[in-house]
Amino acid sequence: MGKALIIGAGGVASVAVHKCVQNSEVFEEICIASRTKSKCDELKAKLDGGKTKITTAQVDADNVDELIALINEVKPDIVMNLALPYQDLTIMDACLATKTNYMDTANYEPHDTAKFEYSWQWDYKERFEQAGITALLGSGFDPGVTGVFSAYALKHYFDEIEYIDILDCNGGDHGYPFATNFNPEINIREVSANGKYWENGEWIETKPMEIKRVYDFKEVGEKDMYLLYHEELESLAKNMPGLKRIRFFMTFGQSYLTHLKALENVGMTSIEPIEYEGKQIIPLQFLKAVLPDPASLGPRTVGKTNIGCIFKGKKDGKDKTYYVYNICDHQECYKEVGSQAISYTTGVPAMIGAAMVMTGKWNKPGVYNVEEFNPDPFMEELNKWGLPWVEDFNPVLVDELPEEVKESELVR
Ligand code: NDP
Repeated sequence: MGKALIIGAGGVASVAVHKCVQNSEVFEEICIASRTKSKCDELKAKLDGGKTKITTAQVDADNVDELIALINEVKPDIVMNLALPYQDLTIMDACLATKTNYMDTANYEPHDTAKFEYSWQWDYKERFEQAGITALLGSGFDPGVTGVFSAYALKHYFDEIEYIDILDCNGGDHGYPFATNFNPEINIREVSANGKYWENGEWIETKPMEIKRVYDFKEVGEKDMYLLYHEELESLAKNMPGLKRIRFFMTFGQSYLTHLKALENVGMTSIEPIEYEGKQIIPLQFLKAVLPDPASLGPRTVGKTNIGCIFKGKKDGKDKTYYVYNICDHQECYKEVGSQAISYTTGVPAMIGAAMVMTGKWNKPGVYNVEEFNPDPFMEELNKWGLPWVEDFNPVLVDELPEEVKESELVR
């Protein structure tokens, strides 16, 4: 069918590459390009010999000219951006210059502020339309599958969805007192920011980890979960008609939170540069360098993830609730592709999203989030490629759980 240029060779890219090779009917050829070429070569050495032709290249994705040269050489049907959110705009610029389709799994982030917002990328809409190319934003799990679940719920089960709660539970245990299961810099930026949710057209801000609930997750058990801001809230608040409220909760263990608090208190999570022995360093980047590489957690992580969305709304004038989720086993993922479930649950939808564009199922000039496309073919592919989903029409709702903070404590 076609050719993909994959940028990045970290945890998520490694899974996506394994999955592209499994789906060789669509991915006849892939080029893996990253800052450190040896990592691309390692992946190639592991997976060469199948039907998908694999090449590798070195690229600095912060440099638009280098990217344009590489795209002109490889001539891919799509660029899969599996590097870091800092590179989103340079890669989109190179795609525009070469009229090549684009996809990613995380919204653009400037280096100096943690924003988690789509405005910069949505600004490319007209230019992508005029160039006749598609940009698919946020095709990981969350964002990604959570948006597809939302579109699917609306299409098949509701006339109107009023409330969405996204529940992201990682019941995995890697045995370290503190480690992050994807890029530590991005992960810590996300969880140390203020919480935020959307209600009746307004954003309501909370202090970090201020709102907590205990939820009993299928196949994982009871976990503490905390309200966080997460980027798909922005696109879903815009794209789901009639929505009254959308929130996002993620589970964290006490050890993780205690370590994070201590690191914050001593200034190690700051993204403000400081001078150290005559050199400017960013404390959070230094912290990343001393933490375990998320890719190394694969062999030692046991347990399961359970990520999904609970919807409440109306069908034929009656109240209706619906919960759709995926359960993924860390060790099963490791056996299949050599990675833990967080990379797996992101890398599989990245491959599927790219395949949707390459096969023309999700091909529409412009810049789109996943929920703006027909969810059905994506949902089918999730079952096929290792992320089967489960439906529950009578779930326990988050609002039925005991409250752990009072509304009056929120910072508005
Ligand atoms: P890693 O840190 O493991 O990998 C990042 C890769 O990008 C590395 O190979 C790195 O190269 C490469 N890279 C970084 N900067 C550049 C550059 N300037 N030029 C070329 N390559 C570069 O991250 P993950 O795989 O964990 O995460 C990848 C992406 O997935 C992130 O954007 C993350 O936010 C997103 N994500 C999305 C999720 C979702 O559900 N939507 C969930 C989890 C992650 P090098 O090896 O040289 O460092």
